Formats: sequence, structure tokens, C-alpha cells
Amino acid sequence: MSLFGDLKSSLSGNQSVDPSLQTFLELEQKKQTIYNSAMVEIQIIMARIEKEQSAIGAKAYSLFREGKLSQEELAENFESLTKTIDTYEEKQNKLNEIMERYDGELQILRPASSEGAACPNCQKPYTAGISVFCSGCGCKL
Ligand SMILES: [Zn+2]
Repeated sequence: MSLFGDLKSSLSGNQSVDPSLQTFLELEQKKQTIYNSAMVEIQIIMARIEKEQSAIGAKAYSLFREGKLSQEELAENFESLTKTIDTYEEKQNKLNEIMERYDGELQILRPASSEGAACPNCQKPYTAGISVFCSGCGCKL
């Protein structure tokens, strides 16, 4: 089961959307849902990176104490950690890519009434009268 696979197919099946406020809001909500669930997955990987790094540290120290620390002893850990970090970067990049595509569609659908409204903190455009918090920096609008 791949969350990111599902995200891609759900996005590509949504190319010709009606330029209405309803569609805009639905898309914005969908983007937020996707972002939240992807972040849950990404945070699990981040925790795994920390755990693996700490395992390397503990193993290295114990080998050092025994006077037999060499790179070969840690090769497996390094390999595993590198894989985890690659997965993390891959997922983060995919999420950014998906978020950009949503932003592009949202930009097209954005209601005219909200034009010109931007976050005072990070300048990210928002929907006036609808958005309560900035989706860019989280500050109150
Ligand atoms: Zn902001």
C-alpha cells in the first residue's frame, strides 16, 4: 500500500475542474488532508532516522570501548541509515511536488473576491473570509 501512489492517481484524475468556489474549497481541503497524512508518514521516517543514528552511536561507542572500532563493523548500519534518509528525501520531494501541483490548480480556481489577500507574515495568498489560519506559516489571519 502506497500513500503516495494514491495521491498521484487522485490528483491526475482531477484535471478538468469547475472554476467554482465549491471546487476551490474542496481542492484546498483535499490538499490539506493529503499534506497531513503525508506528514504523519514522513515523521515516522524521521523518527526511524533518529533511532538508526542513535543505534550507530551506541554500537560505535561499544566497539570503541573494546578497542575494535572499524568501518566494517558499522557498514550495515550506514547502509540502512542511508536507505532510510533516501526514502525520507524521496517522500518529502514527492510531497512538495504534489503540493505545488495543488497550489497551481488552486491558483487558477481562487475566487476573484480573495485576490490580493496575502498573509502579513509570509505573503502567501489566502481566501479572504474563509481561511482562518495561513496555510504557509500557520499564523492567524
Ligand atoms: Zn503566512
